Amino acid sequence: RASGGCQKIRGAQLLELLESKHDVLFDCDGVIWNGETAVAGAPEAVRALKQRGKRVFFVTNNCTRPRQSYVQKFERLGFADVNEQEIFSSAYCSAAYLRDVATLTGKVFAIGCPGVHTELRDAGIAVVEEEEDGPDVNISNCALDPDVRAVLVGYDEKFSFMKLAKACCYLRDSECLFLATDPDPWHPLRGGRITPGSGSLTAALETASSRKATVIGKPSRFMFECIASQFDLDPESALMVGDRLETDIVFGINCGLSTVLTLTGVSTFEQALVYKDSDEAEKKDFVPDYVVESIADFMEALEE
Ligand code: PLP
Ligand code: CA
Repeated sequence: RASGGCQKIRGAQLLELLESKHDVLFDCDGVIWNGETAVAGAPEAVRALKQRGKRVFFVTNNCTRPRQSYVQKFERLGFADVNEQEIFSSAYCSAAYLRDVATLTGKVFAIGCPGVHTELRDAGIAVVEEEEDGPDVNISNCALDPDVRAVLVGYDEKFSFMKLAKACCYLRDSECLFLATDPDPWHPLRGGRITPGSGSLTAALETASSRKATVIGKPSRFMFECIASQFDLDPESALMVGDRLETDIVFGINCGLSTVLTLTGVSTFEQALVYKDSDEAEKKDFVPDYVVESIADFMEALEE
């Protein structure tokens, strides 16, 4: 790899980088929005890239919404021209994996928000219905569906001991697939709070089952393969823009893309430098090629 230089760029240098690429992959939270607020200048930057003939894709580990709901979010936040085909979420890609790679026959037991269930159904995958367990139901007598062939775990605000217990019963069968939407440990909320991410729930299930999940979301290559299978994509001419070194930047490097860290989200420039200066070789996979303050800098560069 020619770079991993953690180089701060803007203006003419950034323009040169953008001109050398055909496809731009954006992480969502921390890059183009923070929660329900668009990053200042992000809608304009996306529009400007498209006007210059770039293809833009959105690659998010957030599994809580189905694709159609992302389209609405983009519209609500002022992104006028984003369509469903450009949005790749860990829920959509998990469903695509089960359908196209695992060619699953049988049902999925899914721990996750409604977005996960919707994407699975849209992909034609049978899902175990979530039902309220009655007062006499406990971990020893709860019903298990004999048709389950996969367990998928993702962010679930209704995660419970019972769901964990059922999932690890299904995983006793070594033929039962074990997937996780994404490995994110936590996410920032407003007011300095955080929420546990899918990775935290996956860790509980990995411990309970003594198995390791196959991770679909970033930094796994699968999301890139999912995009590449639908659009002719050359890693050499693609750029990955993200805010989290351990997922977005590692993802870009795993897929052979040039990488840009933007400082509007989770990771800091100092953290990138710590990885860069580390003696451990594997830490180099966490070092972005370039760093920008915000994707609003893209707009500024394109106007040069
Ligand atoms: N998963 C959940 C539940 C989230 O709330 C978030 C960010 O808000 C993410 C994942 C990370 O999303 P992204 O990959 O777009 O940063
Ligand atoms: Ca992010």
